[in-house]
This record gives sequence, C-alpha cells and structure tokens, in this order.
Amino acid sequence: MIKCPYDKIAHHNIPENLPVNYQVLTALPMGVSSAAAADVSDPNSAQNPSIKYCDIHPSKKVKFYCKNDRSMFCSKCILKHTEMKHDVIQISPKIEEMKKMIEQMVVEVDNHDQSISVNEELYNKLEMKVRKKFNEEVDKLEKSFRRVMDQLEIQHQNLFQMMKEQIDKEIK
Ligand SMILES: [Zn+2]
Ligand SMILES: [Zn+2]
Repeated sequence: MIKCPYDKIAHHNIPENLPVNYQVLTALPMGVSSAAAADVSDPNSAQNPSIKYCDIHPSKKVKFYCKNDRSMFCSKCILKHTEMKHDVIQISPKIEEMKKMIEQMVVEVDNHDQSISVNEELYNKLEMKVRKKFNEEVDKLEKSFRRVMDQLEIQHQNLFQMMKEQIDKEIK
C-alpha cells in the first residue's frame, strides 16, 4: 500500500502501476524564472504576448500539451487528459516564441530563394541564431533544475537535523 504525498489517498498498487503525478511539475519554479527573465530582457512589454492562457481557465498559463487531442492547457485541466491515459507532455511558454522565430526564418530563406540561389552564409547565420536561442533555453532550465536540487538538499539536511534532535531528546 502506498500513500500519495499530495492527497494522502492510499493506493493498493505497486509503484510501477501508479499514475504519473504531473502536479510535481507545476511546483517547479521554471515558469516563474523564465517569466522573470523575459521581463528583464524586454522591459517594454508588461505582459508577454507569446504566453498562452488556458481556454477554460483564462487566468492560468498553458503548461501542458496533449498529443492525443493536440491541445494545450493549464495544470487544472491536466487530470482530464491523464485520466483518459492520454500522452501529455510539459511545454514551456517559450515554445510559441521559438515557433514564431523559426517561421520568420523560413520566410526569410524563402525570400532569398526567389532572388538568388541560397547562400551558405545565410544558413550559417540562421543556424547560429537558432543554436544560441536553444542554448539559452537549456541554460535556463539547467539553472532552475539546479535551484530545485539545492532546495531539496537543504530540506534534506533540515529533516536530518530535526530527526537527529528528536532522537537525541528521546535517548535522554
Ligand atoms: Zn485549464
Ligand atoms: Zn487529451
């Protein structure tokens, strides 16, 4: 028997058969850090227009994508899809931004195709642009991951300390 750490409901199941807990993903500080970073890089826009909001919950940001329904939705809607055993992945609000960027590049390349035979220099330039953007995003994810790991380590140590004190007390 396993107790869910979130809702304390007991499951009579082996761990492999338990449903995936996507709630954990929403607790990660990723969305917060990328939104803060976007504010820094773009002080003119109070609200990032590339961030999508849930159709059903307009105050909640879109954080997941269902491959079965081909729809994007927030952390409140996710259970509806996971209960039906749909294939759900976490998405970053930055994905829309990157999609737009790539679309722009395709247009750029198309324009060049019409005038001159596509030159290698342009492709290299575009490739570097995409690579840079990609590395930036990976960097951000790594940073927030490290932050989460650091926090876990601190909590781990606190817990250990608490247990030690408790045991010491009981021994005396
Ligand atoms: Zn929703
Ligand atoms: Zn679905």
